[in-house]
Amino acid sequence: MAGNHEGIVIRPPSEAGSFLLPATVGCSHNSCTFCVTYKFTRFKLRPFESMREDIELAARYNPGLRRVFLCDGDAMCLPAEDLERILDCLNDNFGQLERVGIYANAGDILSKSPEQLETLASKKLGIAYLGLESGNDEILKKVRKGFTAEQMVQAVRKAEDAGIRTSVIVLLGLGSNAMSRQHAVDSASVVSRMNPSYVSALTLMLLPGTPLYSDYQDGKFEIMNPSSILQELRWFLAGIDVEGPTVFRTNHASNYLPVGGTLPQDKERMLEIIDMGLADSSMLRPESRRAL
Ligand code: SF4
Repeated sequence: MAGNHEGIVIRPPSEAGSFLLPATVGCSHNSCTFCVTYKFTRFKLRPFESMREDIELAARYNPGLRRVFLCDGDAMCLPAEDLERILDCLNDNFGQLERVGIYANAGDILSKSPEQLETLASKKLGIAYLGLESGNDEILKKVRKGFTAEQMVQAVRKAEDAGIRTSVIVLLGLGSNAMSRQHAVDSASVVSRMNPSYVSALTLMLLPGTPLYSDYQDGKFEIMNPSSILQELRWFLAGIDVEGPTVFRTNHASNYLPVGGTLPQDKERMLEIIDMGLADSSMLRPESRRAL
């Protein structure tokens, strides 16, 4: 189920069954060199009245709805008071509401006080998805992520401490072959410090129209082959040292090999599956079946 959308809608795989409610249109940052999602969408906030209409309509057809995802690219950029108003409206209309999810960047979280985040959590803002992409600052700067790894660690800790779970996303292949090992090792180190509730790895898919695609065409960026990506995934997972429990997943359609488990206890089992994939390429998802 979805509210009134403008442009492309993206949501995490785990929000597949959620009511997708646009709170903003586009992404307030819209500068990452690998991302084309909102390239042609002018960022704007959505009027609350229009959201209320969507919510009330959805409640008429599905009053037992339990999960909502606030779109678009970083709806957490809304002021805390605006988010509270949306959450209040959702709680008023859906008596069985369990969790509201949202995409967030580090600045969206860091600009809110611990008390504001705790209030949002009490109103069932239950999970924030944050694109770390890489724990290496040189890569983050190159891809114009807009934040340092340290800022993202602070943001994740602040959200988790306030009771909002975080799901951190790392983008395999973003450092290309030249920085593969550093990308993996630094990302593992940053994730270890974050100790998030969830961490997932996606694999870079170069999209025409992005600055990174132009770099590729100009010979300035190499696409990594599947076994190099898998090796990078292995370095990444092997280097994660979290207290946990942290759910680790590579189940996104962009990946060559799905693995999943809970860290720290399932790490060796997942590494064994990656080793099997490294030894037997028939286990890998064919290029033609990868997607975003
Ligand atoms: S923050 Fe996310 S949605 Fe916005 S440009 Fe970067 S990758 Fe795309």
